[in-house]
Amino acid sequence: MTTSTAANVPLGSLYVVATPIGNLDDISARALNILRSVALIAAEDTRHSARLLQHFGIGTPLAACHEHNERDQGGRFIARLQAGEDVALISDAGTPLISDPGYHLVRQARAAGVPVVPVPGPCALIAALSAAGLPSDRFIFEGFLPAKAAGRRARLEQVKEEPRTLIFYEAPHRILECLQDMQSVFGDERPALLARELTKTFETLKGMPLSELAAWVAADANQQRGECVVLVAGWQAPEGEEAVSAEALRVLDLLLAEMPLKRAAALAAEITGVRKNLLYQVALERQKDA
Ligand code: SAM
Repeated sequence: MTTSTAANVPLGSLYVVATPIGNLDDISARALNILRSVALIAAEDTRHSARLLQHFGIGTPLAACHEHNERDQGGRFIARLQAGEDVALISDAGTPLISDPGYHLVRQARAAGVPVVPVPGPCALIAALSAAGLPSDRFIFEGFLPAKAAGRRARLEQVKEEPRTLIFYEAPHRILECLQDMQSVFGDERPALLARELTKTFETLKGMPLSELAAWVAADANQQRGECVVLVAGWQAPEGEEAVSAEALRVLDLLLAEMPLKRAAALAAEITGVRKNLLYQVALERQKDA
């Protein structure tokens, strides 16, 4: 049994509990049992969570744990855990720590030797991915993009050639400009999907190439409302490029910046040992995309 060193009292557990992202029926039986039985619920927004608890007839006391107080106030929760009380951590919706507060508290709890127990459940990115029909064996979650256009485009450039499925959260008032930036950075044809208002009345999942998706959202103001997840298919190397190593592509790109295409392909072939014709084709593709 884990015990606190000071008083030899068994430590409480910190339960990280997922709550619904819309449809209240998505809360798990285990989550309800834990929220009922803990001494305290640490919540991102106590007023918001009070409504959820009231709906389920749960009277457990709430205490604020949000991004502004989490680092400083974490000690209060840790003290209660060390005194043997169980604490649940919830956020406004979905899984805590996923674009939500909780990271510092979980870190502090683990550092203090307090057991941290995940109670899994709704999560918008996983719900969207599970229904998107995009490759789901490997994916990356980019969270929210920077709010300003320059920062957003710079971040998109960083993941332009990422082969895994990309998942983003976005605010509704920025969804159109976000999709338009994705179109200009990733290209018109890159498959994408907008998952909006998941589990709610106006749930919409629309999968199309980025140019069509951006046009569809532009043409319908209703698509610029509510909560959104954007998924984008990972980068696929143009034909031929798969056979060329990343190092050979790097050499080719450096040479392409300095000399005519044919000469660059020939020199890159000499340096890397890759067939000249293949590098020539790849160079043509890369210049087309540039
Ligand atoms: N912790 C949450 C989770 O597990 O998904 C995410 C919290 S984050 C502050 C809120 C963002 O998640 C929204 O802006 C939206 O991008 C996404 N989101 C949350 N609920 C959603 C829903 N019902 N449908 C689509 N996206 C949702």
